[in-house]
Amino acid sequence: MLDTYVLRLGHRPERDKRVTTHVALTARAFGAKGIFVSTKDEELENNVRSVVDRFGGDFQITTGIKWKPFLKEFDGTSVHLTMYGTHVDDAIPLIKDVATRKMLIVVGAEKVPPDVYQWATFNVGMGNQPHSEVAALAVFLDRFFQGEGLRRDMDGNMKILPCERGKKVVNDTQ
Ligand code: SAM
Repeated sequence: MLDTYVLRLGHRPERDKRVTTHVALTARAFGAKGIFVSTKDEELENNVRSVVDRFGGDFQITTGIKWKPFLKEFDGTSVHLTMYGTHVDDAIPLIKDVATRKMLIVVGAEKVPPDVYQWATFNVGMGNQPHSEVAALAVFLDRFFQGEGLRRDMDGNMKILPCERGKKVVNDTQ
């Protein structure tokens, strides 16, 4: 799978904690290798690392990054998710043509600065209606990786065994 990272812009720790946590966990579950968050938030880092410790994988979280130079100088393909962008079905073949090294997916919280639209390699819409960064990220990753992200074994201490009813969990820490 292509090495893929998420850049979360505009995170406000007091307002967005839950949504940004969901952005991070969605990134991890659907196949990304890490998330960069523009605002420093140690509690967010601890929450995400606690999931990684229990459920496995090597997903990384870094908060408090200077997003402007980070995005502008990213040495791969950047994909800004926005309802104003090219429809995902039209964009994915174009992205696959050029994304050979690594990919950075950018999602906002509140209004995204105009520079992002200029610096991103692609501006991509999961449809052209307003909805959510969590939904947009999940749809994009699932379509891009054609479901492969959801099939990975993350080799965690806690492993969920799919079942029709109830909960089956193997816990190697006990
Ligand atoms: N009103 C803000 C603006 O105009 O930039 C966007 C707020 S929206 C709740 C937060 C983020 O969700 C956006 O920055 C974008 O990344 C994502 N998003 C929402 N709807 C989307 C769509 N239809 N396609 C792609 N991304 C979307």
